[in-house]
Amino acid sequence: MEMDNWRFSKFKQNDVVIYKIPSFEETGLVKHGFTTRLGGISKAPYKSLNLGVNTKDNPDDVFRNYNIACSSLNIEVENVVLSHQVHKDRILAADERHRGNGLFYENRFPEIDALITNKKNVALVTHYADCVPIFILDKKKDVIALAHGGWRGTALKIGAKVIERMIADFQTNPRDCIIGIAPSIGKCCYEVDDYVIDHFKESYENIEGFVENKDKGKYYLDLWGAHEISLVEVGVPYENITVSNMCTQCNNDIFYSYRGENGNTGRMAAILQLI
Ligand SMILES: [Zn+2]
Repeated sequence: MEMDNWRFSKFKQNDVVIYKIPSFEETGLVKHGFTTRLGGISKAPYKSLNLGVNTKDNPDDVFRNYNIACSSLNIEVENVVLSHQVHKDRILAADERHRGNGLFYENRFPEIDALITNKKNVALVTHYADCVPIFILDKKKDVIALAHGGWRGTALKIGAKVIERMIADFQTNPRDCIIGIAPSIGKCCYEVDDYVIDHFKESYENIEGFVENKDKGKYYLDLWGAHEISLVEVGVPYENITVSNMCTQCNNDIFYSYRGENGNTGRMAAILQLI
């Protein structure tokens, strides 16, 4: 069921459903989307648009799913640069030399949880099943980035670190950046323990804005709120951030959910390319 507070827009082509960020669409600067599990050819438990190259799904099916997803976004599949996510905060500045990485040949750039580029024919791709996808666009300098933030990446403030890297390497002004925080596990479904919360106490001055006590040693963690706080800290205007408000576990019919399916599932992808 689609909820009133969902902030991304639905794009449908044949059976493929992809969600888009309205503020990104308005710029006319990018082709982009966050895929769902709908519209692909994989069989259960990966049914059906599985874009996870490291799952145990049939690799030929995954490859065909990439062709389906990219063609829906009008992106050449040869342009994709896949990340290699390990819940850390290493960033790769990608260019033409990285095209095809992870899909047309084995990944050559290990331990990469965020990708940046200012090149037009490079399609950045990161993978998800509950973790937080962060889309970034510098509208003035035409620089794009994707960051993968599970709880570890969120505690490491990976989105804010990408903005800092864009400031250093591309002369980005954070005020020119718009952000999309795509479907991922919501606070409604994300119960964590002290071990997780202790990591956030180390990196955030105040965790009250995004942590709610449940029982003793049990908390609800709002990863979206934590990212918003860290992005505002580095100068991104709050009003430039669009949170989808879409929980992957609550909407397991549309999205893969690692928690909701005990780890035995496929992956959605964030895909972003400059026009
Ligand atoms: Zn939920």
